[in-house]
Amino acid sequence: MIENPQAIWHLDNSYAHLSDCFYTKTAPTPVTKPKLKRLNHELAKRLGLDVGSLAHPDGIEILAGNRLPHNSIPIAQAYAGHQYKTFRDLGDGRAILLGEQLTPDGKRFDIHLKGAGMTPYSKKVYKNGDGRAALGPMLREYILSAAMEALGIPTSHSLAVVATGETMIRKGEELPGAILVRVASSHIRFGTLQYAAKWCGEAKLREIVDYTIARHFPEVAAAERPYLAFFGKVIERQASLIANWQLIGFIHGVQNTDNVMISGETLDYGPCAFMDTYKPLTWFSSIDRHGRYAYVNQPSIGRWNIERLKESLMPLFAEDEATQERLADEAVATFDVQYEQYWLQGMRKKLGMYNEEAEDRELIDALLMMMERQEADYTNTFLDLTFGEQVSGLSKDKHFESWYTCWQQRLSRQQASTSDIKQLMKASNPAVVPRNHQVEQALEAAVAYDDFTVMEELMDVWQEPFAHTDKQRAYRHVPKQDTPYITYCGT
Ligand code: AMP
Ligand code: MG
Repeated sequence: MIENPQAIWHLDNSYAHLSDCFYTKTAPTPVTKPKLKRLNHELAKRLGLDVGSLAHPDGIEILAGNRLPHNSIPIAQAYAGHQYKTFRDLGDGRAILLGEQLTPDGKRFDIHLKGAGMTPYSKKVYKNGDGRAALGPMLREYILSAAMEALGIPTSHSLAVVATGETMIRKGEELPGAILVRVASSHIRFGTLQYAAKWCGEAKLREIVDYTIARHFPEVAAAERPYLAFFGKVIERQASLIANWQLIGFIHGVQNTDNVMISGETLDYGPCAFMDTYKPLTWFSSIDRHGRYAYVNQPSIGRWNIERLKESLMPLFAEDEATQERLADEAVATFDVQYEQYWLQGMRKKLGMYNEEAEDRELIDALLMMMERQEADYTNTFLDLTFGEQVSGLSKDKHFESWYTCWQQRLSRQQASTSDIKQLMKASNPAVVPRNHQVEQALEAAVAYDDFTVMEELMDVWQEPFAHTDKQRAYRHVPKQDTPYITYCGT
């Protein structure tokens, strides 16, 4: 029996009860003919939502924004942000927060409809926008956010993709529209606090930071300087997140401060993609002319973004400006140190190292230099090393044999058996990551032919990236590309 579709929602609206400087009450714009394209059953269960009720026509009306769930106070959230180097006022131009679902295990998750119609913010910054999103990019976000979660990287989640039954024009092409039901521990971005600092006054900045602390870092409330301690936590999460991206070869593509979450979750799967060949200067985004957001730059951009957040939060750190400045700079300086620690720790695991030796960094750098020189595949090289197979990408390098000997000697100096080492490497090097050509194949079949079999098959393979099954081996091959892969912003 289908439950009442309303009964499954258990929404709270803590954000909508903050001062109205931070949002505008806005209802989703109804769509003509909503059709459920994807529903993440496992996520639904975690949220305490009944799959049958969500997939019921009345449930779909809610996911499409045609009807509000019980207790919803829909709002569009204000934010600002540095897009590339320019500060702009933005705000959710086409996304609406329905409320926060309280889960059976006591957690709170934003339920956010992306592509739910124009909001007052889009009128300000995106005058010719339509408030909508295209099916392809929303499915892309659905696929990639699931894969990131499976890889163990903090991320926003995708509950559902609903086709709107309407079309839209993008770059002269008529495309089917869709809404993505996005779930995150919050949508508080660096840009949210930048907006508050710029437009809402210090008392309200304090209000939203207090709220953010209570929601994400309640443990800092008792610190001697809670705001500084909060800033320190945010820095640590970014250092860890970006180290995770680097270790897995993920390129976010649009690391603007409005796309950076205070919670340290990955947000905005627009022009992102995974790196195949190890080339530190890889980037895919069509709008990133000079590679500002290239793979190699992600950590330094992470720090740059933290410096922008610092400018907004500094007044809260201490009474006088000199102390504010000193404390803030000391905190910012911890980013590089923490990033390096997270990254090095992750790299050690990828190479089977349980303990630490002073020369590890040198050994790792030598490997990466060889990979760059030989244009080796990033993921597959680590896999070959894991399984002790011929390292096809590197064996022709004249330094490879001596490097390999040094590495083996290094491993033999620790208290770990060969099988322990292999175990650690298997758990740290994915058998599969979403390859660009595979993502494209899945999207092509789904969007052009309404055929989701390719997507299902691939998502199944990506669901357990560390399983190292025979089946997964079939997905390792990367075709040589004649033309560079280009991604476009998720519009
Ligand atoms: P993004 O590039 O997705 O981070 O979006 C940048 C800003 O533009 C955000 O405020 C979006 O909500 C807004 N935006 C993007 N696409 C549209 C659209 N089709 N209509 C209205 N606003 C949009
Ligand atoms: Mg964005």
